[in-house]
Amino acid sequence: MNVAHILSQKGRDVVTVSPDFSLHDVCQLMSEKGIGAVVVCARDGELVGILSERDIMRTIAASGARALEERVSSHMTSTVVTCREDTTIQSVMERMTEGRFRHVPVVREGRLAGIISIGDLIKNRLAEVESEQDELKRYIATA
Ligand code: AMP
Repeated sequence: MNVAHILSQKGRDVVTVSPDFSLHDVCQLMSEKGIGAVVVCARDGELVGILSERDIMRTIAASGARALEERVSSHMTSTVVTCREDTTIQSVMERMTEGRFRHVPVVREGRLAGIISIGDLIKNRLAEVESEQDELKRYIATA
């Protein structure tokens, strides 16, 4: 199973911000949308970073609430690990585990095409387990 399968169910919408947004703007956006990370894009749409609630928490822990006025560009992660639609779900899980992060943007021909979160992976795995159980029950019932 690959990333395209998850995107076909959850959709391809990605919440993006520009590097000059303030952390406070991002907090409001994350709270409104119920998400834990935003992808940072330049004006031409190029993916230039990712900023998650962890980055915001780390900044506030170090500098206090006044840090909320600082820009996204100063606190985002610029080296973003991405995947493609044909990347396997197993491989996305490995990337998250190795990198210790919970979000992986999906890129197609250099453009943003979706995002996979750890929640999406868990939801997908639960559905798989349920379907395996149903199959096993059917097999036992008809054996
Ligand atoms: P998260 O677990 O996604 O909240 O992110 C934990 C840390 O990893 C934060 O510093 C993020 O900026 C960073 N991060 C999140 N996703 C990625 C990614 N796909 N590639 C690189 N860094 C990431």
